[in-house]
Amino acid sequence: MKDAYLVPGEQIPERYRRLYAEINLDAVRENLGRMKENLAPDTSIIAVVKADAYGHGAEVVARELEEASYVSGFAVATFEEAVSLRRAGIVKPVLVLGYVFPCCYGEAIRQDIRLALFREDTLKELQKAAGLLKARGILKKPKVHIKVDTGMSRIGVRPDEEGLALAQQALAAQELEVEGIFTHFARADEADKSGAFRQLSLFQDFLKKIKERTGREIPLKHCANSAGIIEMPETYMDAVRAGIILYGLWPSEEVRKDIVPLTPVMSLYSTIVYLKDIGPGTQVSYGGTFTAPGKMRIATIPAGYGDGYPRGLSGKGFVLIRGKKAPILGRVCMDQFMVDVTGIKDAAVGDRATLIGADGKERITMEQAGELSGRFNYEFACCIGKRVPRVYLKGGKVFYCQEDCPEFVPDIS
Ligand SMILES: *Cc1c(COP(=O)(O)O)cnc(C)c1O
Repeated sequence: MKDAYLVPGEQIPERYRRLYAEINLDAVRENLGRMKENLAPDTSIIAVVKADAYGHGAEVVARELEEASYVSGFAVATFEEAVSLRRAGIVKPVLVLGYVFPCCYGEAIRQDIRLALFREDTLKELQKAAGLLKARGILKKPKVHIKVDTGMSRIGVRPDEEGLALAQQALAAQELEVEGIFTHFARADEADKSGAFRQLSLFQDFLKKIKERTGREIPLKHCANSAGIIEMPETYMDAVRAGIILYGLWPSEEVRKDIVPLTPVMSLYSTIVYLKDIGPGTQVSYGGTFTAPGKMRIATIPAGYGDGYPRGLSGKGFVLIRGKKAPILGRVCMDQFMVDVTGIKDAAVGDRATLIGADGKERITMEQAGELSGRFNYEFACCIGKRVPRVYLKGGKVFYCQEDCPEFVPDIS
């Protein structure tokens, strides 16, 4: 997405009213602060801003988080995401959690982007890339974090002799800096923490073995994800990797909600653009899956799965209009859907429709909408598409917008 323009005061461009995501940066700061209160004083936070900060906009969110002294750096999933953070002016360390192909190593070294190390060939390729840069007078050491698989079976060396050999090799390589080592929990978000504790103890044993074998201590050891941060203080170490809780969303229904209270960051707003009265027998939307049982008033909402609003909410979800629930009728289309406003007497064209967020006493959370649509809350947030402008609030006021088509000038006067 591109920068749009600064919006004076609280004026949101009218065309954004089709559908926009409001991102409350004050809530991001609150969530960060509450998390910090819980952590050990010397444990720093690595803010996970992969997948465009779980759909919230990585550049703006990262700029906001970078100001906090206890945010020691950022983690992303891909090399491109790391480069965009640098391009946005982020100077703190950036770690790519996933695999990066060798063609990117030169650029990674130049931009101080940390890579996850779990393959022997990565080690060799990194040394090669560093050598090539050196020949051109660029003396920079690649920085890596060793990734250890203690139970995800995803990426990472096993904490066995083979893993130990790679760690030894990396620590012995002069042209390389082993800045960190990490593992990832598969089941920390469950009420039963035994699986996570098993992983933790495998990781701790491995760290001990590395130290015994090499006499070296790797400076940045980290394993906790959001669920670990909330419920497992034993996992804190030098840093924690905070993802979903930054955005005010829960890792799962099973985690305790009273330890780190969270404020949701994203709301989704649209507008009623059309109202009509229909009679009994009238079908609504593709496939005619809904037939009006009697006289009804329905409203058209100009948002759909083309925006990442799930088609799975067809006939199941609801939006909020004038503080009341308006159920979705029939199928959600690519760009529009219809809701029942029969019970909302004064509903009018131009009314705000809240797809996610609060309206009066009612609220629809991403967890709820996720549940209704069969979509996981993490996924719900990530899937909100590029077609949806992001409007950032700070101090309760609009301070920034990001959209795909900023060169559009709405007011030709
Ligand atoms: C996504 C991810 C995280 C963040 O997880 P949350 O549950 O969102 O806190 C941490 N570490 C790794 C390796 C990840 O892939």
